Amino acid sequence: MASTKDVYLVIGGSGFVGRHIVEQLLRRGDNVSVFDIVQRYQDVPFYSGDISDQEQVSTALRRSGTTCIIHTASPPAGLSDPALYWKVNVDGTKAVIAAAVQNNVRKLVFTSSAGVVFNGNALTNVDERLAPPERPMDAYNESKQKAEEAVIAANGKGGLLTVALRPAGIFGPGDRQVMAGLYKVYEDGKTHYQIGDNTNLFDWTYVENVAHAHLLAADKLDNPPPAPPLSTLEEIPLEAPPLTEAEVAILNHPLPPLDLTVGRRCIPTSEARPLGPYVTPPPNADKLVAAFEDKFSHPEGRPVVRTRFDPLSEPNLFRTKIDKPDTTPLGVAGQVFYITNGEPCYFWDLPRLVWNQLDAVFPGHRQKRGYTVLPAPLGFALAFGAECWGWLIGKEPALTKFKVTYSCVDRWHNIEKTRRVLGYEPQVGLADGVQRMVDWWRTEYTSGTHKITH
Ligand code: NAD
Repeated sequence: MASTKDVYLVIGGSGFVGRHIVEQLLRRGDNVSVFDIVQRYQDVPFYSGDISDQEQVSTALRRSGTTCIIHTASPPAGLSDPALYWKVNVDGTKAVIAAAVQNNVRKLVFTSSAGVVFNGNALTNVDERLAPPERPMDAYNESKQKAEEAVIAANGKGGLLTVALRPAGIFGPGDRQVMAGLYKVYEDGKTHYQIGDNTNLFDWTYVENVAHAHLLAADKLDNPPPAPPLSTLEEIPLEAPPLTEAEVAILNHPLPPLDLTVGRRCIPTSEARPLGPYVTPPPNADKLVAAFEDKFSHPEGRPVVRTRFDPLSEPNLFRTKIDKPDTTPLGVAGQVFYITNGEPCYFWDLPRLVWNQLDAVFPGHRQKRGYTVLPAPLGFALAFGAECWGWLIGKEPALTKFKVTYSCVDRWHNIEKTRRVLGYEPQVGLADGVQRMVDWWRTEYTSGTHKITH
């Protein structure tokens, strides 16, 4: 927890993620205001304004007495207006930074996106060492990438501490992008179409977990870093200096299995796995199965084993410190963190979970039918045709190269740094999260507001 209580301004606080952050801050009794171009809730002080106008942000900061900004504002993904993305995400974020420095704000937590490192190639268990590509997949993520760069570069300016969080595939109550899209497919009777072979893993993140990560980042931003940056030493050492006690504590304490919080995740290891198709089971078969099923035993005392490929191994930490001697990779300020549910799943599994749960809401709506699988190359060919046709008639095509890539490529991230440094654990598992989202959708449907878009 922060030593003195912060006063929060959630920029984009009328939006999906922003609203969950506001609710979590209110729940723990914090002083919070919202800055947004639209007002959707009346329970907190509201400042109407556009982040690309520095003066409007500055006025809100002054009037609210903000000490910590949580900046989640952005136009939604998928618009064909690169100039708007640039204006709001890049120029707007720079205006937020300038206003923060001008008003001596201490902390800025920025909602970036895991998409800033995605350029269409597979991402398998990637961690924060992976440098963002020159060109991400689309204008939206390109602008998020430039905004994130500006936020991280601003760390330390005028005493401002900054951090960027990169959530992946957010869903949950209040979401008008994922849920509205999946509902439309359900309503149109197209749930049997599948692009790609569904062997690619994808990270989804339940919205309250994302909000929780923002609060943790805000709380820990002004924690002293566990070791001074190398640039503060008289000479940059040629070999890794010994880790400090605080660093060892961060790196070596046993992390509980994610199942403890998300409930259903069970990843087989060599010591704990289901038996599979053995003709003659191995002599320790019972032990292997028992270890796999005993998901909840605390691994206290199990050593943390790191190879040199591990992002948090000593050689890799040293390399990271040498690359950026002014930063502290085991601190929060100036760092980026992936935020996911830690439960990568096959891409089509989550939409299907949503559709299956919608069946309980709309019994009899769906006919049972087999899947029609569109192999990825065919998907790309059709998308190419649709994009050309769309361009000719001046209409957005339903199938695009981006959508095919999105549904066919591995995209999942390593959250160990987030768990160790921020102390983040996903609070709600995927299946429970989907249930909560569909329950919310049911009430929206009943009240007729399910078609409202942000
Ligand atoms: P959202 O559209 O629900 O909320 C964004 C809010 O920002 C809206 O209330 C909007 O009015 C406000 N806003 C837009 N332009 C503004 C401006 N110029 N000035 C002030 N306010 C403005 O979006 P969301 O899904 O809650 O996304 C929140 C953040 O999370 C965004 O930065 C987004 O890039 C990031 N993100 C979202 C996802 C996802 O799957 N939804 C994934 C990764 C990252």
